Amino acid sequence: TKWDTKGDLDESKNLPIYQHKATLQQAVKDNSFLVVTGETGSGKTTQLPQYLHQAGFWSNGKIGITQPRRVAAITVAQRVSQEMHCSLGREVGYQVRFDDCTTQDTVVKYMTDGCLLREILADPVLSQYSVVILDEAHERIVYQNKWWDKASKGRCVPLKVVVMSATLETDKLSVFLGGCPVFTIPGRTFPVTSKFSCAIGPKDTESSVYVKEVVKVALDVHTSEMAGDILVFLTGQSEIEKACDMLYEKAESIDYRYDVQDHKVEGLLILPLYGSMPTDQQKQIFQPPPPGIRKCVVATNIAATSLTINGIKYIVDSGFVKQLNHNSRVGMDILEVVPISKSEALQRAGRAGRTSAGKCFRIYSPAFWEKCMPEYTVPEIQRTSLTAVILTLKCLGVHDVIRFPYLDRPEERFILEALKQLYQCDAIDRRGKVTRLGELMVEFPLPPGLTRALLQAASLGCEDLLLPVAAMLSVENIFIRPGHPEKQKEADKKHRQLGVQAGSCNDFTMLLSVFEKCKASDAPSAWCKDNYIHWRALKSAFSVETQLREILLRLQKRDFPMEKFDGNKSELFRRCLCTGYFTNVARRSVGKVFCTMDGHGSMVHIHPSSTLFDQEAQLDWVIFHDLLVTSRIYIRTVCPIRYDWVKDLLPKLHEVDVYELSSVARE
Ligand code: ADP
Ligand code: MG
Repeated sequence: TKWDTKGDLDESKNLPIYQHKATLQQAVKDNSFLVVTGETGSGKTTQLPQYLHQAGFWSNGKIGITQPRRVAAITVAQRVSQEMHCSLGREVGYQVRFDDCTTQDTVVKYMTDGCLLREILADPVLSQYSVVILDEAHERIVYQNKWWDKASKGRCVPLKVVVMSATLETDKLSVFLGGCPVFTIPGRTFPVTSKFSCAIGPKDTESSVYVKEVVKVALDVHTSEMAGDILVFLTGQSEIEKACDMLYEKAESIDYRYDVQDHKVEGLLILPLYGSMPTDQQKQIFQPPPPGIRKCVVATNIAATSLTINGIKYIVDSGFVKQLNHNSRVGMDILEVVPISKSEALQRAGRAGRTSAGKCFRIYSPAFWEKCMPEYTVPEIQRTSLTAVILTLKCLGVHDVIRFPYLDRPEERFILEALKQLYQCDAIDRRGKVTRLGELMVEFPLPPGLTRALLQAASLGCEDLLLPVAAMLSVENIFIRPGHPEKQKEADKKHRQLGVQAGSCNDFTMLLSVFEKCKASDAPSAWCKDNYIHWRALKSAFSVETQLREILLRLQKRDFPMEKFDGNKSELFRRCLCTGYFTNVARRSVGKVFCTMDGHGSMVHIHPSSTLFDQEAQLDWVIFHDLLVTSRIYIRTVCPIRYDWVKDLLPKLHEVDVYELSSVARE
């Protein structure tokens, strides 16, 4: 049948991996290390853990599977719990940053990398686990076999480590793990024809252009192509929401008697898919559409490798991805929209050939492919700040972080940069040793500056001011900025009012005030709607705040440094921020232009979304949370400060010789 409406869980018997069940079970029994590779969708993530469970590995401890992204960990755990006929959180559970859905009974546990690292910190031999599966290992740090061998010492039964990857880097992985065997699941894919268009050339990187274009192409596919679902690749939540809105609107005016060629197609079901989406909505993505209805999923890159959606026959590829990159111009990590790599484009196209021959529509030109797209995607560890990785390694007792055997060695200057930042936040001392503060900081899944500020607040007894702010900064898009110009004006006005009501003269108190106001409201979702605030984002901020508070409470039971402060609340708040954000200080130079004090001396502007926008004339020194680089460099989430507050901290930006930190790291 064309539409498999049964949604039968026995589908798993049709997956390519099923043929190899017994062999895989045996291979894990026979080897301490194993690399498993196979085309995306072959069943690695959902099936292998179940096979190992059936083979009885659980009797020696949990089967842990790491995922590169939290959505993947959650949706996959959901799926597997269904396949194993248990409720989520019992035998099968997941743990991701800010969300632990496991119990005593959990034996198959999906989690993010960071979670596993934190477990290793607490228990270096991972005594609770029998098998650890590092899934989509090509994306991240994978520890060398010697590392795991060490973890195995002091255990009754040796730990099994399986590394899974869909890419061709398996030989490299095998070598890295001491030449362990590689198990390849033979693929079963159909040809995909790809077509370029001329819409996006090397110069068009404006988001409004490619959003409009993917919408147009998706509708063309819908009206002119035979039945089969569509998967659109876009960059992020706001672009996806915009595209979905446009699709809804345009799809309404389709006359299925005349406009659509395949008369079995009678409707379009539009579904967004991005990281911070509520889980109940994610489920729909995987369900087959009702008969006659074509499904159109508009997704981030998550649908390229981590999640496989069945029934996709058409791909619409925007050619862009939102990526965290280290920007050397400003010396910080910045979320940027960049062209995807050619290998990424092939991976995206491949999603259309899972069940039958498919088509891929690229909205970019061959010139764009040639001139703008790199051959391969650079692994994240090589393009982002390493502070969290380095601090974790140090807490794990790896002192020499320069010669540590990374799978994808980051450039030395990035390691040095991370050491410098950690030193500036007091997480390590001049000799590169982890401080007491550093041991506390490693527990928080937050950027180091923010953690530093939070811990400062906690030591002064005012964590209630900083916890909500940290939570609000950890979720995406609190403030809605509608596309429609009239609406946008209204939204801006509402946001400004909120700021005035808060009596806030900075963006951090604005966040605090929105958090508190909404929390106190009787009808929070209506309140959000009225004020152009994302209710969903706020809901996650509430939950993040609770979890950060739990971490803090746990740490406060250990011996926690306390200090005293005399002064008013507003100053207290801003001075706490300064302890973490003195690396992000700027001073107004002329007109509306500020100059950063970090040695880069970048010329920056206050972003229009800030409550301080247009009040530059009254400002002198400010700190900021992050940067947005377009044709200009903007600072976002800004707070005015007094020079006195950072005077003693600023020398730290320059005094330290990074080689001093690392030369110790070399010893
Ligand atoms: P791999 O890890 O090899 O890429 P997966 O185990 O993720 O493969 O996927 C195997 C199959 O399970 C795919 O056909 C996919 O569509 C299906 N699947 C995965 N997650 C879900 C889900 N949450 N709901 C329904 N089907 C799912
Ligand atoms: Mg997978």
